[in-house]
Amino acid sequence: MIPVNEPLLDGNEKRYLQECIDTGWISSEGPFVERFETAMAERVGRRYAVAVANGTAALELALAALGLEPGDMVVVPTFTIISCAAAVVRNGCVPLFVDADPRTWNMDLDRLAELLADEIDRKGNRRLKAIMAVHVYGLPVEMAPVLALADRYGLKVVEDAAEMHGQTCGGKPCGGFGALSIFSFYPNKLVTTGEGGMVLTDDPPLAERCRSLRNLCFQPERRFVHEELGYNYRISNLQAAVGVAQLERLDRFIERKRAMGRRYTALLEGCPGVQLPLASTPYADNIYWVYGVVLSDEVAGDAAAMMKRLAGRGIGTRPFFWPLHEQPVLLRMGLSSRDEGRFPVAERLARRGFYLPSGVALREEQVDEVATTLLEECRGMDARHGGGGRS
Ligand SMILES: *Cc1c(COP(=O)(O)O)cnc(C)c1O
Repeated sequence: MIPVNEPLLDGNEKRYLQECIDTGWISSEGPFVERFETAMAERVGRRYAVAVANGTAALELALAALGLEPGDMVVVPTFTIISCAAAVVRNGCVPLFVDADPRTWNMDLDRLAELLADEIDRKGNRRLKAIMAVHVYGLPVEMAPVLALADRYGLKVVEDAAEMHGQTCGGKPCGGFGALSIFSFYPNKLVTTGEGGMVLTDDPPLAERCRSLRNLCFQPERRFVHEELGYNYRISNLQAAVGVAQLERLDRFIERKRAMGRRYTALLEGCPGVQLPLASTPYADNIYWVYGVVLSDEVAGDAAAMMKRLAGRGIGTRPFFWPLHEQPVLLRMGLSSRDEGRFPVAERLARRGFYLPSGVALREEQVDEVATTLLEECRGMDARHGGGGRS
């Protein structure tokens, strides 16, 4: 089986972990945590970084730091991971969804502008306070228009750069935009710590607030007296040690991902019935965090059917995100309604999209095998349905 993801841990990971064990520093008090924070802040050009337990926790803290009030609203793309909605809901706020762009798969900025005009200009919505900008699969959402809209309407921006280590947008590092930004270090991300995440900001009070919330809001003067309920979202020195070693090789990982993406595209171009990821936009070149494909409408059967066939031939895949506005949990909570038909792009991506093996450890011959197998399956499907399907 060619796995959908496999991390590369062959740099200084072992050496730094050994150092943790030799010195006895394994908790969040150890020196690698600060080293990791400093290195990440430098890499994305931010003043402060706060390492936490995972990317979901980072999103939750970033929103908590903004001091939103219960019932406030946050704009979130519908085509993303549940973490984005969970962070909004856990902070007592309400998500407002925006459909995806059919080419980049990121939030559609025309739809965003329409939503803001409708809510704020037309309805006079004063509860709408923030935009969560999420970069999906390898291309960033274009930040300049997002920031301009936020500026115009007085909204805060939180940048979810969980999949974008080392990517840039308009020449500026992802993770460097908005009031706060976050990363994840899950094993399929470009830098992993096993489990881990980070919040970054340039604002001293926001950074201080994230630090405090991360560590149960202990007070420096009276340690076990609490004015506020925080979280234990600390990261261990062991995890940070792995992160420091990973970050040392981020540029190589990006090169590998880009080479993988170019190879897949070269092999799959002309594959009947399949939309491939955009190689670039005017503001960024794809880093192919994952290599996603979307089946054209003329291909019979959906992504699930194709994924099952590929699995039968030893190829691991993952489905695309399921849109947030269709999540049963959010529907039950009354935070979404299914019958509006306002998000046709995300709904189609969810049903016809999936991604191919994309880990940094993936070898060229594995890319070739995956591409060949997918080509055969697509040609087969095409033939079974009259051969009419060209995308
Ligand atoms: C992975 C991911 C997260 C969540 O990170 P975890 O570390 O898994 O909690 C959040 N947002 C996006 C866009 C992600 O891809």
